[in-house]
Amino acid sequence: MIDIKDKHNCCGCEACSSICPKKCITMKEAFDGFLYPQVDKNQCINCHLCEKVCPFLNNNREKSECNNSELIANRIEQSISNIGCYACFNNDIQIRNNSTSGGFFTALADYVLKNGGYVCGAIFNEFFAIEHMMTNKKDDVSKMRGSKYVQSKLNGIFTKIKKQLEENYYVLFSGTPCQVEGLHRFLGREYEKLITVDFVCHGVGSPKYWKKYLEYIKEHCHSKIVDIKFREKTYGYNSSCMAVYFENGKAFHKGHDDDKYLLPFFSDYILRSSCYECKVKKLNHVADFTMGDFWNSSKLDTKFQEANGATLLLIHSNKGNKLFNDICKQLTYVAISLKDGLIVNSGKNMSMLLDSTKEPKNRTEFFNDLEKMEIRKLLNKHIPLSMKRKIAYTIKPILYKLGVLEKMKRLIK
Ligand SMILES: Cc1cc2nc3c(=O)[nH]c(=O)nc-3n(C[C@H](O)[C@H](O)[C@H](O)COP(=O)(O)OP(=O)(O)OC[C@H]3O[C@@H](n4cnc5c(N)ncnc54)[C@H](O)[C@@H]3O)c2cc1C
Ligand code: SF4
Ligand code: SF4
Ligand code: SF4
Repeated sequence: MIDIKDKHNCCGCEACSSICPKKCITMKEAFDGFLYPQVDKNQCINCHLCEKVCPFLNNNREKSECNNSELIANRIEQSISNIGCYACFNNDIQIRNNSTSGGFFTALADYVLKNGGYVCGAIFNEFFAIEHMMTNKKDDVSKMRGSKYVQSKLNGIFTKIKKQLEENYYVLFSGTPCQVEGLHRFLGREYEKLITVDFVCHGVGSPKYWKKYLEYIKEHCHSKIVDIKFREKTYGYNSSCMAVYFENGKAFHKGHDDDKYLLPFFSDYILRSSCYECKVKKLNHVADFTMGDFWNSSKLDTKFQEANGATLLLIHSNKGNKLFNDICKQLTYVAISLKDGLIVNSGKNMSMLLDSTKEPKNRTEFFNDLEKMEIRKLLNKHIPLSMKRKIAYTIKPILYKLGVLEKMKRLIK
């Protein structure tokens, strides 16, 4: 039976609790707010199904491989993979503006809905917690659009997916690489009408920290939150920011250094332990598609320049290639080599497709302090910003409003 002794070895995909014939595995919250399986040993019949479906137990990627860019780079050079690689964006400007990069996900979801199928993706629930839902309605799919940098709760969705597939419906599942791998292992066989899409994954943030952040905002903004976007393109795709909208018509936009969620997320303090030693990161994913950010896509041509965001798209399967042909009329796209794709995706570091984030030494202390410290004090203690960074995030919105920021970016290019 599953017994998680080291939290780095469980991504929380819920495949084990979904497959257990005795329903004796429950997902319990740990001190950092992430869910881990706990077995009721009195009911367990030692069938070992939970171990067989676990994507972390069954991927033997060594710890030393997780943060070794050089080793991974050599592997790409040597790889003879058939992965298709594209830069693309959705031709519908509204969809694009509401998506994180180029809006590829919505093109795929539209195809599934048109064919009478179901789409599963991450949404905000009524309390702005993040969870997966299954739908066959266009309005619900629009709620899935956009990255939410918090681990989503799956709420037993794998069992619902299996039911729809058995009834011969199309099902599109969109999630983290580990959720997608967990789903495939749970299903245990190929389904022609199952389509899966994952993304280049930095890691997922703590639902417990997210809750504290929401409480902080509510306290300081004195109005009900009506919408949140983790990556709004107000200041352009390359400078996307957190945007929170309130019932009283007010809103705030804050960047990576300024926002009290994005700062610990991108400083890697609030990620799940498994994200620091991710065992499912690899070139060939079990998903049909992998999406990611295509940074500086404006360099490709004028169409991409005007698009304000493009998706880096990897296609891993024949099914994926066929589907891409069916939906490509909705997209503007250009084929590129896998190596170039990973370079544009990575920025300075190795692509998050293969590399894991590094665990801060004082992560445990950070979470222990989360219980007892006010959020500003917590961040000042653990992630203090230099005066230079504070000045930069204060003047950036002013420069943007004056139009100076865009001019400076063009000059640098
Ligand atoms: C937690 C997280 C980390 C990411 N890290 C990177 C990275 O390091 N590098 C990179 O290039 N790209 C990363 N991405 C992917 C990137 O942000 C875009 O989502 C991707 O480029 C697709 O954009 P799109 O415009 O085509 O579609 P979008 O409309 O933005 O599609 C979003 C899709 O992602 C799913 N989704 C959103 N939030 C979650 C969640 N919490 N859990 C599971 N599924 C979710 C939705 O269901 C939807 O299907 C990350 C995304 C997430 C959610
Ligand atoms: S061994 Fe079988 S019965 Fe026991 S927890 Fe795992 S799946 Fe459930
Ligand atoms: S990784 Fe998934 S299947 Fe494995 S123990 Fe964790 S929740 Fe269960
Ligand atoms: S980094 Fe790995 S373990 Fe973490 S959410 Fe992404 S795929 Fe899952």
